[in-house]
Amino acid sequence: MDHFQYREGILHAEDVPIPTIAAAIGTPFYCYSTATMTRHYNVLAGSLDGTGAKICYAVKANSNQAVIRTMADLGAGADVISGGELQRALAAGVSPDDVVFAGPGKTRGELAQALAAGIYQFNVESEPELRALSAVAVEMGKIAPVSIRVNPDVDAGTHEKITTGRKQNKFGIPIDRAGEVFDLGAALPGVAMLGVAVHIGSQITDLAPFEESFDRALRLIDELRAAGHDIRRCNLGGGLGIPYGGETPPSPADYGRMVKRLTANRQLDLVLEPGRVLVGNAGILVASVIHEKHEGRRFIIIDAAMNDLIRPAMYDSWHEIIPVAEAAADAAFSDADIVGPICESGDTLAKGRAMPPLAPNDLIAVRSAGAYGAVMASTYNSRPLVAEVMVHGDQFAVIRPRQSIEDLIARDQPPAWLQPGSG
Ligand SMILES: *Cc1c(COP(=O)(O)O)cnc(C)c1O
Repeated sequence: MDHFQYREGILHAEDVPIPTIAAAIGTPFYCYSTATMTRHYNVLAGSLDGTGAKICYAVKANSNQAVIRTMADLGAGADVISGGELQRALAAGVSPDDVVFAGPGKTRGELAQALAAGIYQFNVESEPELRALSAVAVEMGKIAPVSIRVNPDVDAGTHEKITTGRKQNKFGIPIDRAGEVFDLGAALPGVAMLGVAVHIGSQITDLAPFEESFDRALRLIDELRAAGHDIRRCNLGGGLGIPYGGETPPSPADYGRMVKRLTANRQLDLVLEPGRVLVGNAGILVASVIHEKHEGRRFIIIDAAMNDLIRPAMYDSWHEIIPVAEAAADAAFSDADIVGPICESGDTLAKGRAMPPLAPNDLIAVRSAGAYGAVMASTYNSRPLVAEVMVHGDQFAVIRPRQSIEDLIARDQPPAWLQPGSG
């Protein structure tokens, strides 16, 4: 359920007609719905009611300050993967005590930054990282709270680029080596070995791999406790999928019930790191039709491209694409490829979609673009980053202005020997 619906034939974000935003700021733009984010957060939090779980929003899904702040106001902490994301989360008002820091390649600078901030937990992914964290913490006179991210060798059944819990993936410490690493951590100064973390991938549409990985993590915790380690925390990661098209991901209610069943009476402080499930369906990408081209195939060429939304090119993702002006019941639909202006064939947002007749400047919306959309954008083909807008009831605000081409060019610094007039 989201808040992008037709009203009298015009797509609205909550109470705001999409054409009103397009008229004010042009296209393309991302548009996020506060009510949808709020609903998704509350449904997930409700499903975990009574567990005391900390919900740390995975900032990488959408790191706009307005989005992080919306999540923080709802009670979410932050899961960050870089020093930059840590800074963004803190700038948005997330308390350091609600921040977990994951990722397989934290630099010493990033470890020091997070220690200085006083974050809740480091999810440590390797032995060298554990040793580095210990050394940095000792230098700073701090004790780093640590969970070890284990790799449970579970196939999440998702796209190969976003599966992270197989033993051939770069993430975490193999679960059968975890005991040794906890023993090492217990002997190292500057680190407190508090918990076990798992995260097996993203856009997971089946409950079984979650359950298998949680079960393995919990059995490990039993073993570690039996061996004398004082394990208090379990970090269950993110990865819950969303319906882009025909998928039927587990409901947050079923997910929550499973988490409760597995963790009941275990005296564990739980952390979850959801990203996509909170914001994915809370955003759309709005674009204008430039023109159509009919050469055997029907191509609808729009002003948004793979640099603005890379998911179809990168992950073969399917996004629903709809006209902003609802098609008439008797409109003559025909199959079309919906493509951007970039000079490569990968710049195809959708293939063979039944679309109504469209004219230049007609608006279309790419649905489910709130996660891994704007954050993965680039300026390829010297296309400035698009605007982002947030809607709240009948209000909308630009939460990131469209970049200008001048901004983009000004970042280049030709060396002195190439200055105009220097030859
Ligand atoms: C990406 C990531 C998440 C969030 O994944 P979603 O599929 O967006 O829920 C959570 N934890 C870690 C460690 C991640 O890398």
